[in-house]
Amino acid sequence: MASIGLDEENTGEGGEQGGKARFPFGSQQFRDHFREHETGRLGGPLYALANLTLLLAIMGGIAWSIGQWHGYFLLLLPLYFLFVNGVEYVLHRFPMHRKMPGAQVVYEHVTIHHNFFADQVFYFEDTRDYYAAILPFYIFIGLTVVICGTAGLVYLVAGLDNALFFALVGYGYYLLYELLHFSYHTPDTSFVKRLPFVRSLARQHILHHQVKLMAHYNFNITFPIFDVIMGTMYKGPTPPNLP
Ligand SMILES: [Zn+2]
Ligand SMILES: [Zn+2]
Repeated sequence: MASIGLDEENTGEGGEQGGKARFPFGSQQFRDHFREHETGRLGGPLYALANLTLLLAIMGGIAWSIGQWHGYFLLLLPLYFLFVNGVEYVLHRFPMHRKMPGAQVVYEHVTIHHNFFADQVFYFEDTRDYYAAILPFYIFIGLTVVICGTAGLVYLVAGLDNALFFALVGYGYYLLYELLHFSYHTPDTSFVKRLPFVRSLARQHILHHQVKLMAHYNFNITFPIFDVIMGTMYKGPTPPNLP
């Protein structure tokens, strides 16, 4: 089991556990500490439901606000999807896995998410574990700034309906990310894991959770489009601890 700080090979940067208590990386001690001290009062299922409701409400509000649904939105959809897939890739590959000035809080992806789900423990064992997988509120705020900022640029170029449509795709992608990522960390016996495409995507993500691979491979969490483009999709041997 790796001890923290993480080494250069693991993170691409020297690592440490930020303001969190220091436990061996990926250890049961960290998991116990997180469950006792870092989870919120809502409890896991309500926390998940609150996030789902918030994202659906935002998407509903945006969809309701679009004055005219243009046919060319069908052409814009794959373009916007590809753009947001690239944003997911860049955010995950760099500030989430490299300590960068001004973005320390985003590095909690390593110090919390990868610390909690590391090497041999990928799956929810307790509903409090949902807090280690669902993006926290301050990341929701940050992504809202990114989505609304980009929609603002679209507004300047192409008007309100186009900007709203971009925001709809952005939040739709956010919701897709949360649903898929949550599914990946459910046990292999869960009903979503019976879907072949979820099992296949989950395997890519579980490989990313191998401590020695996480800073180098499989940065797309939804569909590995930019991992293929950038040559960072893991094609090496299956680590011995994986089935
Ligand atoms: Zn994960
Ligand atoms: Zn990661």
